[in-house]
Amino acid sequence: MGEFILSTGLGFGKPQVKADQDLIIVGGGPAGLTAALYAARASAAPLVLIGELVGGQAATTDEIENYPGFPDGIGGAALAQQMQSHAEKFGAQFQFQTVTSVNLKTYPFEINTRAQQYTAKAVIISTGSSPRKLGVPGEVKFAAHGVSYCATCDGYFFKDKRVVVVGGGNSALDEGLFLTRLVSDVQIVHRRDQLRADPVLQERAFANPKISFIWDTVVEEILGDTEANAVRVRNVKTGDVSVIDTDGVFIYVGHVPNTKLFEGQLRLSEDGYILTDRKQHTNIPGVYAAGDVQDPIFRQIVTAAGTGSAAAIRAIRFLDEQTFKESKK
Ligand code: NAP
Repeated sequence: MGEFILSTGLGFGKPQVKADQDLIIVGGGPAGLTAALYAARASAAPLVLIGELVGGQAATTDEIENYPGFPDGIGGAALAQQMQSHAEKFGAQFQFQTVTSVNLKTYPFEINTRAQQYTAKAVIISTGSSPRKLGVPGEVKFAAHGVSYCATCDGYFFKDKRVVVVGGGNSALDEGLFLTRLVSDVQIVHRRDQLRADPVLQERAFANPKISFIWDTVVEEILGDTEANAVRVRNVKTGDVSVIDTDGVFIYVGHVPNTKLFEGQLRLSEDGYILTDRKQHTNIPGVYAAGDVQDPIFRQIVTAAGTGSAAAIRAIRFLDEQTFKESKK
């Protein structure tokens, strides 16, 4: 990669600076991996800082049935690995380093991990989202001791046992259905009497003899000793309180975007999502966002991949413009 000197260009930062990367992609889920592929094919040699797990949340999904081109489905981890290999084939580089801070108010942008300090001429943020916590007593105490947010990761620990699933969206039903392969029964506790999940998942869940529903009910506390062994629930219509014995509690009550790193630097929505325009631009020129970190609505692998490609196309254009400006000096 050639040396890059930006003297005045964007109007921020010091007059003369040296960037050590053209493009850094923060986050290695489907959005980041697709951005990496597109940028690599444009010879931008992107560096992807992944954190701990390639593929993000998609990699923890057992079976993906709605990614085009895979009519028989594909495992989430397998899809993520293929996406990574695809980007690597064209020159993308991957580092398993968690970003601890960024400075997007200087140029080139600064990206820090525990091990390394990077600078970049352009940045694509694809840090995804994390499972929302229920926020009830016992949830933190029994995390990894009966409370889980990932059936694919932890389901096996509950083989032939009883579990409670909390939530009524696609995740709750998807993961609840996955759990029926392993556990003896799944009780889905939902706060309303109608599910939010897609009809196809509802149909499968209603037809599954291992799944039962507890409607109009919220979990108020997770109980146990060293491991969770019951949940205290309240019916929101009658006010009745009862205790359900269980060996595990799987919580799927939505997601929150991973944007803490960018607070005070990028414009965020009230819910904490990065605000972008239709070209994936954030409020800072040269900084783009893609995938769940900027999408409170669709949150599909295919839409994450789509916004990842768009962000890369715009980042490449931005880099070309900077190079052109420099060549005119
Ligand atoms: P979601 O669609 O937002 O559903 C969250 C569920 O949790 C809702 O049923 C909600 O109840 C309930 N909930 C929220 N806060 C709660 C609380 N404090 N106490 C009790 N219940 C609470 O989230 P998701 O299921 O994680 O899905 C997120 C996105 O990913 C969606 O766009 C979904 O389509 C997508 N996704 C797709 C697939 C797939 O295509 N196969 C699989 C997984 C996820 P209410 O319904 O009453 O609001």
